[in-house]
Amino acid sequence: MSKWDSVYVRLPTPAQNAAISIFGLYWHWLRFGPGYVDFVREYEERERFTVNDWARWQASRLREQLTACANHVPYYREHWSAAQKRAAARGELGGLPLLEKEPIRSAPTSFLRDDLTPRRPHVFLTSGTTGTPISTYFTVPELRASLALREARSARWAGVSFSMPRATFSGRLVEPDPHSAGPFHRVNLVERQVYFSAFHLRSDTAIQYVDALRLHKIAWGTGYAVSYYLLARFMLERHLSSPPLKAIITTSEKLTVEMRQVMEQAYGCRVFEEYSTVENAVFAGECENGRLHVSPDVSIVEILSPDGRPCPPGELGEVVATVLSRTYQPLIRFRLGDLAMWDAEQCPCGRQMPVIKEVVGRIEDVIAGPDGRQMVRFHGVFVGQPHVREGQVVQEALDRIRVKVVPTDGFGQEDIADIIRRVQQRLGNGVTVVVEQVKDIPRTPAGKFQAVVSKLQKLDGDST
Ligand SMILES: [Zn+2]
Repeated sequence: MSKWDSVYVRLPTPAQNAAISIFGLYWHWLRFGPGYVDFVREYEERERFTVNDWARWQASRLREQLTACANHVPYYREHWSAAQKRAAARGELGGLPLLEKEPIRSAPTSFLRDDLTPRRPHVFLTSGTTGTPISTYFTVPELRASLALREARSARWAGVSFSMPRATFSGRLVEPDPHSAGPFHRVNLVERQVYFSAFHLRSDTAIQYVDALRLHKIAWGTGYAVSYYLLARFMLERHLSSPPLKAIITTSEKLTVEMRQVMEQAYGCRVFEEYSTVENAVFAGECENGRLHVSPDVSIVEILSPDGRPCPPGELGEVVATVLSRTYQPLIRFRLGDLAMWDAEQCPCGRQMPVIKEVVGRIEDVIAGPDGRQMVRFHGVFVGQPHVREGQVVQEALDRIRVKVVPTDGFGQEDIADIIRRVQQRLGNGVTVVVEQVKDIPRTPAGKFQAVVSKLQKLDGDST
C-alpha cells in the first residue's frame, strides 16, 4: 500500500472525498497544465498524415531515439553489440534485440537517460499478475502528452472529452472496507469525476452505482471493461434504467462482442475499446467506424511470429513496441505480452494509421492441450451462454481444466454439459473438464479480471 493509500483508508468518507478533490487539483494541473492544448492540437493534426508522412516522421524520431539509447542509456550501452549500436545510429530497428520485462523490473533506472535530469519525474508501478512491480518513469511533459493523447485519439473519437463529467472504474482503492454498505464511489470535484469501486460491484449494490451516475450527471465512462459489463448485466437483470450517457470507453481487459452488446443495451450508448498500456508503449483507439487505429506517434508497433518474422495482416503474432513518445526511459522492441493481428483493409474514416484487427489476449492467457496445441481464444467458451454471468478457465494440468462459473438463475446440467463439450472441442476429448459453480471470481490485486489462469510452467516459446 502506498503512503497515500495508508492515510486514505483511515479517513471518514467525506474526508476521503475532500482528499480526492485535493489530489484532483494536482492532477488537473498535470493534465491541463502548460502545453496540454498544444499536445492535443498536434495529435489531431497528425491524424491527417498520409502513410508517407508517417514513415518520414517515425524514421526521424526513431534515429534520434536509438542514437540516444546507444549513447546515454546504461542498459543499451552495455547490452548492445558494436554492430547493433551502428545499426541504431542508422535508425535500423530490425537487428536490435527484443526487450523482456524482467530487466526493467530488476533495474528500472538503468533504462533512464543519463544525460537528462527532468524535474519531478513521475513513477508508475504496474503490478502485472505476479511478482515485483515494474517502475515506469514519465517526465511531466511526457505524462501531459499521454493524457492529451487520450483526449485526442480516444475521448474525442467517441464524441466526448475529459472536460465532461465522467466515471472511472480502475484498480484504485476507492472504498477500503470490503463489508461497506456504501457509498461505493468517491467524487473528484475538480474534474467532475466519479471513481467507482470495482470490488463492491454486485447485483444488490448496482443501484447505488446507477444512482451515482445520475446524481453527478455523468456524461461518459472509462476504465475496466469487465466492471462496466458486469454493471450492465446487473442493470438489465434488475430493470435499472441508465441515465443518458454519451459513450463508454473501455480499457484493460479485452472487450468481447457479447460484452459490447450487453453494455450498449444497458447504457443506451456506444461502447468504444481502447488498447493502451501504463508504459504508453502502444496506443490504439476506436474510430467512428469501429476500427482500432494504432497511433504511430506513440510507438512503432511490430507484430511478430514466434521465429521473429513480421506477421502479414490476418496472422496472429506477438506485439512488440518501440516507444517514440517517451524519451527519458526509452523502451526499444519491448515485448508487451499481447497477441494481436493487423488488418490490411483501409478504414473509410480516412485516417492512414495502421489498424489492428483484434487484440486476442495475453500470452499468459494461453491454454495448452495434451497434444501440445496452444490456444488463446478461450473466452469463446462462454459466448452465448445465457446462464453464465462470469467465467474463468483454469488450467490445472495439461489434461485437466477447471471452469469456474458464476451462474445466473436457470443454470443447470445442460449448461454444464455444453461448457464441457466446448472445452473438449478445443482441446480434445483427452482433457478432463470440471465445472465449478462459484459466488464470485476474485480479481487480481490490481482489481483486474483474469479470463484465463494457467498453473503450468511458462508455456510460450522465447522468440528472441
Ligand atoms: Zn477509422
